[in-house]
Amino acid sequence: MKQFQVTFQKPEDSVEALHKLREQTGPGQEDHLLFQLFSRSLERDAIEYVCKKLENEFPGAAYVGCSTAGSIIEGDLSTDTYALVCTLFESPTAKVDVKQYRLDMESVDGVMPKVASFANENSWVKAILFYTTVWKTSMTKLCTGLDEVRSDVSIMGGGAFNAALDSFSSYVLSNGGNAADHSIVFVFIGGDDLVVNSRYISGWKPLGKYMDITKAMGNVLQEIDGVSAFNIYHRYLKIENDDTFLYNTLEFPYIIKRNGIDILRHPQQCLKDGSLVMASDVENTSKIRLAYGDPVTIMESIYQNIREIQKEDPDVIMIFSCAGRKAFWGDSEIGNETKAFETIAPSSGFYTISEFLRTDDNVNQHNLTLVIATLKEMIPGREHRKKTACEEIHGSKRLSTVERLANFIEQATSELETANEQLSDMNQKLSNMAITDGLTQLLNRGEIQRRITEAAESDSYETVSLVMMDIDNFKKVNDNFGHNEGDYVIRTLAEVMKKQTSEITDASAGRWGGEEFMILLPGMGKEKAYEIAEAIRKAFSDITFPLAGNCTISLGVAENQNRETGDSLASHADQALYEAKNTGKNKTVIY
Ligand code: GH3
Ligand code: MG
Ligand code: MG
Repeated sequence: MKQFQVTFQKPEDSVEALHKLREQTGPGQEDHLLFQLFSRSLERDAIEYVCKKLENEFPGAAYVGCSTAGSIIEGDLSTDTYALVCTLFESPTAKVDVKQYRLDMESVDGVMPKVASFANENSWVKAILFYTTVWKTSMTKLCTGLDEVRSDVSIMGGGAFNAALDSFSSYVLSNGGNAADHSIVFVFIGGDDLVVNSRYISGWKPLGKYMDITKAMGNVLQEIDGVSAFNIYHRYLKIENDDTFLYNTLEFPYIIKRNGIDILRHPQQCLKDGSLVMASDVENTSKIRLAYGDPVTIMESIYQNIREIQKEDPDVIMIFSCAGRKAFWGDSEIGNETKAFETIAPSSGFYTISEFLRTDDNVNQHNLTLVIATLKEMIPGREHRKKTACEEIHGSKRLSTVERLANFIEQATSELETANEQLSDMNQKLSNMAITDGLTQLLNRGEIQRRITEAAESDSYETVSLVMMDIDNFKKVNDNFGHNEGDYVIRTLAEVMKKQTSEITDASAGRWGGEEFMILLPGMGKEKAYEIAEAIRKAFSDITFPLAGNCTISLGVAENQNRETGDSLASHADQALYEAKNTGKNKTVIY
């Protein structure tokens, strides 16, 4: 695969530029060429003139293009208005197909299945590049539509933009359609020998704790942790909502977790109520945190990726970079980010309003990110020419002050978070202890009494039943076998109670005192409660204790009549129990 790149200032200069490309590609080859045309100008007549000239010089060749915030040519920002990148596929089986569709919020549902089935039905397709105009709210439907494409296809794309960066005016174009807004162009590339790899690089690093998105709609982020999204900027970073807001938030965008990866989201605007209009949607996610961009760490991330790309030894590198990065660095420095790619292979691309990339089966819309596609043809029998190795640029061992401070915040936050977690664990344990009986781990007297009163006097239940029980002749157990054996019998009865009530909704079992217990059964009538009481009685009497042998219990059951108080319900259960004791024990009596 080869790539040739030209730039020109005026539409009429395209003729000469195209001649030059023709000399480089040689005659014919049209079906193995892909042209990408990038324009900083929004003038449709001018771009259509260039397209006509391209069609004259390369009849039938595939071309795509879009308006941009700037082109990347030979790994650097081009200052010319137009850039034309010509990729020559050399494999005999190489294939390129271009499709353009009208695309907006309404038509997206119809377009995406067509694209997915084309890719799924044509096994030669290895990658899809797309160039799209972007509508103001969420582009999620575009992304999820592409999720239907078979998972071995690489997908990446960029949002068309313009040099003024101040509006959503933009267009895309192709040999399949005119320069149009509300439009998308797909390039399907493939063939036996093509290898496509992709990656995204941001370089912005997380800062501080995770917060919760508590209110958001589409791309409007209203509240984080219950306060306005702007408030977070003001509280932590002293960023004002004035004309420096956009630049300051480029340094400190938000990071959201989406489809398992960290994605940067940059605010485009701050509304009067403190809501932030983001560059893409923020819905369907709950966690968010701030990020910081520091030139040193950004460049480190880039060089780390460059070393990996170098190992892939690609023929061509395609770059979709965010216009926000260009604004962050400024036009004089932005090229530093991408120059090193050119030392590996011809590198070209454009500055987008959004970058798209499929990672782990999901297509995500990114902001402030570099999406990099590396293309290579592994033609059998042909020695793959080795590039001169890119000189490894080792970042300085010295951390920047910003990175040190960010590290400090990160560490302090994580220590605080751990301390908070321990504290809330302790609180949980303490409040459990406050309602639990130490010997049996059942509810203690205070808690079971509170629940009985609450259930008896609540409107939520038609009936509430209460089972009270007491171990028969327990004094003898203590007297004959000692207190420890007595305790063991009590704990064993508690286990039986837990087991027999574990599947009853809202049931509570508690220790009333000594060897007396209560089971509260909200929503249950006395007949059903009697069955449960009997089940406990039988299960307990079946147990043979090491010293005490078999023990028995007596039980009383009462049902809440006419919304009586908790106290009177308990007293009725007690009377039924008394009756059971007086009539022979080891039985259940209903009040
Ligand atoms: P009845 O069949 O009439 O219930 O006879 P009883 O002997 O069981 O009489 P009662 O219920 O009044 O006996 C309660 C005894 O339970 C008195 C007390 O020594 C003993 N007891 C109370 N709490 C505990 C405890 O936590 N552990 C042990 N081992 N014994 C306890
Ligand atoms: Mg007893
Ligand atoms: Mg007793």
